[in-house]
Amino acid sequence: MRAMVLEQPQPAEEGPLQVRDIPEPTPGPGEIRVRVRVCGVCHTDLHIVQGELPMHKLPVVPGHQVVGVVDALGPGARGFKEGDRAGVIWLHSTDGSCECCRRNSENLCINAKFTGYDVDGGYTEAVIVPADFAYQIPKNFSDENAAPLLCAGVIGYRSLKLSGAARSDRLGLYGFGASAHIVLQIARYMGCEVCVFTRAAAHKELALRLGAAWVGDAKDQPPRELDAAIVFAPAGPIVLDALRALRKGGTVALAGITMSPIPQMDYSLLYHERVVRSVANSTRQDARELLELAAEVPVRTEVTLYPLEEANRALADMKRSHIEGAGVLRIG
Ligand SMILES: [Zn+2]
Ligand SMILES: [Zn+2]
Repeated sequence: MRAMVLEQPQPAEEGPLQVRDIPEPTPGPGEIRVRVRVCGVCHTDLHIVQGELPMHKLPVVPGHQVVGVVDALGPGARGFKEGDRAGVIWLHSTDGSCECCRRNSENLCINAKFTGYDVDGGYTEAVIVPADFAYQIPKNFSDENAAPLLCAGVIGYRSLKLSGAARSDRLGLYGFGASAHIVLQIARYMGCEVCVFTRAAAHKELALRLGAAWVGDAKDQPPRELDAAIVFAPAGPIVLDALRALRKGGTVALAGITMSPIPQMDYSLLYHERVVRSVANSTRQDARELLELAAEVPVRTEVTLYPLEEANRALADMKRSHIEGAGVLRIG
């Protein structure tokens, strides 16, 4: 089957992914095979292909926002039947038994495996996933509009929860890519007022169109202090910008898997019980909640479609913030 394979990390614009023919995988016990129709493109994929994260497997097929159809079940796989639509996310499996799993934090499992990183992902025609780690896709979403929900949506949703934003709160979103454009809609549905901090004019326009109360640059002060903020941009200095805009006792949640160094700061920026916390992966419960909520809102995702063979271009476009909303590869 056709696959976009990473053999050697390189900058996205140099074409790190190669078209290859790889053997079709067979599901083992408890696993299902999903025939891929679309796969979303995520910033984490960009970090992987550029070698900005430690390599876990090479060669590897990236991609962890898969929407497809179940076409084979391994022995004992439950919850799906052939022909069902299924979604695959970043969290591929956990051991279910480590300290983190026992503390109800399976997102932090010490033996977790991740899709498109520890095991081959969705930049190809079929993927294998444990049935317990696959998801039903709400009927009101097309394949391509569902794909960005599976990571951009899920991680954004977890970040929103950890930011502590509640009804009537003013929430700041720093960076406005795939994740933020979904979080904005959910936060508004929850009754938050949303301020969006982004450089790109097209992103500012999209944010206003989706209901942002105010847009500006990261350095700008919003009209009123923020109760909570989420930093999507992988730029350490922005953490300080967010703290400058935050009220006493507010939280800044950091949604990225990597970030440039956070500059030294004066303690007064953090004092008065302001909280800075990172967000790592997601639990299965997060994914189920987000999919249900997205259908209820209903969230409208903006997507730009690319053929599978143009995965390098999709990644390069995302790197330059040239995509509004989310990039999605069409495969099946
Ligand atoms: Zn564990
Ligand atoms: Zn992702």
